Amino acid sequence: MHIGIAGAGVLGRLLAWRLVRAGHRVTLFDPADGPLSRGAAGWTAAGMLSPSAELECADLQVFQDGLDSIDMWSEIVPALPGAPDFDRRGSLLLAHRGDGGAARRLVDQIERKAPEAHRPRPLAVTSLGELEPDIHGPSLAWFLPHEGAIDPTQLMPALYESAKTADWRWNQPVQDVGEGFLTVGGRRHVFDHVFDARGLGQRPAKSPAAGCSDVRGVRGEIFLVRAPGVRLARPVRLLHPRHRVYIVPRRDHHFVIGASEIESEDRSPVSLRSTVELLAAAHSVLPGLAEARIVRAETNLRPALRDNLPLIEQSARLTRINGLFRHGWMIAPAMTARAIVQAGILVSSSGVSSA
Ligand SMILES: Cc1cc2nc3c(=O)[nH]c(=O)nc-3n(C[C@H](O)[C@H](O)[C@H](O)COP(=O)(O)OP(=O)(O)OC[C@H]3O[C@@H](n4cnc5c(N)ncnc54)[C@H](O)[C@@H]3O)c2cc1C
Repeated sequence: MHIGIAGAGVLGRLLAWRLVRAGHRVTLFDPADGPLSRGAAGWTAAGMLSPSAELECADLQVFQDGLDSIDMWSEIVPALPGAPDFDRRGSLLLAHRGDGGAARRLVDQIERKAPEAHRPRPLAVTSLGELEPDIHGPSLAWFLPHEGAIDPTQLMPALYESAKTADWRWNQPVQDVGEGFLTVGGRRHVFDHVFDARGLGQRPAKSPAAGCSDVRGVRGEIFLVRAPGVRLARPVRLLHPRHRVYIVPRRDHHFVIGASEIESEDRSPVSLRSTVELLAAAHSVLPGLAEARIVRAETNLRPALRDNLPLIEQSARLTRINGLFRHGWMIAPAMTARAIVQAGILVSSSGVSSA
């Protein structure tokens, strides 16, 4: 089949990767300058794969997609060039003594929704010290053993490289999407099937029929810092009454510290307030970060629908996917696999081996 994809973010690249491997002809369009241009939200993401912790704001389908996707990443990542980082050593929820009330309420919320094996396991401070010796300060800790992390800045290029035989059309925004066609630069391109994976770009400029009018952007601000000598093996979240702050270890002594969640589509640089709050909170659990150097501060918009849940809309020769909100990397493998099956396109279940 000849398949057209609008958008080369997380979803677009994973769809291309799966479909090319299954022997289909794929053409993608994206307004970005090239495969390394960092416009898509996918570039900014921390890469946490945390189905249990995300139950705070997600439903059981997202949870299950998250679990399935971690298994899928464990097959996909080794098949990609450059050995991108992927680990599943679990994650930690932490809280300072004074914030215990808010933290317990959140843990309760996860416990009520999660199946028993995936509920947060309380950790004594001594066990926390054995697991993560550089963490100091929090008096409450819980372990989520089935969670993991990937590095989106390695996966974005790796997915592109491994689906390079697709026809990638950069600098080409899609103007209109319909059943079996994409309009680009005023010209209609006809396909056997079309996937609309434009994220925030799915919002129609003029005609509501041409896109998803419900999609909105949720501002997120994030830091990349480098701190040689600081040890952290797995992602940690600090449960705080006003914000959730996470630290995710990356290769070569780098750490991602994020992220604000603001109902705004403002893409301007990171604010002073977010800088102070995020970095101070991170330092309060990992004091070794005091001498970290700030490598990058970045803002991007998470594509979200009204209920903050993801959606696959299927019609003849057209599939729209959107609303991956704060868990795009966490659920994209399962979502893309399901979308391809629903579209009736032949491919193996994981997309790893070709059909
Ligand atoms: C600060 C922050 C932290 C995050 N942390 C995590 C995390 O730890 N774990 C996690 O799982 N998720 C995380 N996310 C969420 C994740 O990044 C998103 O859910 C995911 O990127 C959504 O994927 P997408 O493909 O739908 O959209 P995007 O990745 O935004 O891609 C959309 C693509 O469509 C293109 N496009 C736009 N308009 C058009 C057009 N007219 N024609 C063609 N193409 C178009 C864009 O250029 C872009 O390439 C985070 C997000 C942010 C902002």
